[in-house]
Amino acid sequence: MNKKVYIQIYGCQMSERDGATFRAMAEGCGYVTTTEREDADLVVVTTCCVRESAENRIMGNIGHLSRWKRQKPGRILAVAGCLVQQEGALERLRRRAPHVDIWLGAFEQERFTDLLREGKPGAAVAAAPPAGPPVEPAPLAERGKLSANVNIIYGCDNHCAYCVVPLVRGPERSRPPRDVLEETRRLADSGVREVVLLGQNVNSYGKAEGWREDFAWLLREVARTPGLWRVRFTTSHPRDMTDALIAAAAEEPAVCPHFHLPLQAGSDRILRAMNRGYTAAYYLEQARAIRRALPEARISTDIIVGFPGETEEDFAATMDLTREICFSQAFTFMYSRRSGTAAAALPGQVPREVKRERLRRLMALQAEMSLAWRRSLVGSRQEVLVTGPSKSDAALLSGQTAGREITVFPGGPADVGTLAPVLIKEVNSWTMFGEITRN
Ligand code: SAH
Ligand code: SF4
Repeated sequence: MNKKVYIQIYGCQMSERDGATFRAMAEGCGYVTTTEREDADLVVVTTCCVRESAENRIMGNIGHLSRWKRQKPGRILAVAGCLVQQEGALERLRRRAPHVDIWLGAFEQERFTDLLREGKPGAAVAAAPPAGPPVEPAPLAERGKLSANVNIIYGCDNHCAYCVVPLVRGPERSRPPRDVLEETRRLADSGVREVVLLGQNVNSYGKAEGWREDFAWLLREVARTPGLWRVRFTTSHPRDMTDALIAAAAEEPAVCPHFHLPLQAGSDRILRAMNRGYTAAYYLEQARAIRRALPEARISTDIIVGFPGETEEDFAATMDLTREICFSQAFTFMYSRRSGTAAAALPGQVPREVKRERLRRLMALQAEMSLAWRRSLVGSRQEVLVTGPSKSDAALLSGQTAGREITVFPGGPADVGTLAPVLIKEVNSWTMFGEITRN
């Protein structure tokens, strides 16, 4: 009988993609995927170190896995990604979790197969990425999946004052256009209907390499892949948004009218201290330009509260902009001090209680905004990519609109895997409800 692999993902969509790559590699070694951790012979954990809370959660979980390991001899535990890649982390992690068999940094994915085959504990962590264009170590095996993540640019050259990502993922390196287009074509041929193009800042695509092909060009090319219905992309740095990108989204039918444009803060003083390279007025102008070209466009965002030195007045500016723009969705975070970053040394660290209280107010406002946004869609017809039965009511189907709103409606098995036109009838803060209309 085949051995089983269970993938546990923490962090962003790039970490999710890492997990899919490890799954493909484990399957290449004869494992089959299980969704039950207790059944697994191999667990691969992909990690995140962007905030301390993520780190604590992951370490707690890895600690619990020591019991899983003891329950059956021969079980293998592998831990990979950003947490392992942090400077000097490996020794510390090994001491804290001696039961982990395989440690892999961010640049050593292709070593996974060897370490697995060797069957004895090992680690591979390189300080920097290898020279030359980045290559994916294994083709994805997305059987039966409608959506897949595709990396287009790795690393980040931005050095936002709070952020540890450039320290762990290294400088920006773009994947050659041919490789990206080959992968999307292969995914479409295997039945994938939606791809998400990934990068810490997709708008920097090809810049470090000096390529003529920029992100707007790549997006159009991917959108023309036969068999692909939808293309998404994340993340766009607001400073690097271009009219050409907005035009590509407006003109290519397969490109979803959705921009994930992390605002981070609404106060110019804080934006400057964060080293974000734009002002609140500039951000607002970008949002307006998007909506002029694409009135239906969703703009979602990330916001940090309690950056060092953030006053009540600065925070009020974040609240004002959040209200003004009406984000379809916002991921909101308390500032977390990360060692090695510029902000870690700043004076004026905001007390935890103050951060928590600001986060609470911002989340309450965003819940109102998300609802207002969804209400504005009542009476409209939205194309929904139907993924399967609804989790809360198996008699109904569920899927996502082009703007990622989860939508639930009656339908039959033949609708699964199609792009269904759904008339939106009712919404709540999480879900939209509707009916398929074919005319
Ligand atoms: N490259 C993306 C996001 C990377 S991390 C971008 O430029 O937007 C995802 C989000 O985590 C960030 O947008 C930010 O809102 C948040 N984040 C990053 N570092 C953080 C820190 N030290 N504390 C709190 N939130 C942080
Ligand atoms: Fe971090 Fe800024 Fe790079 Fe995003 S753009 S990964 S927030 S440094």
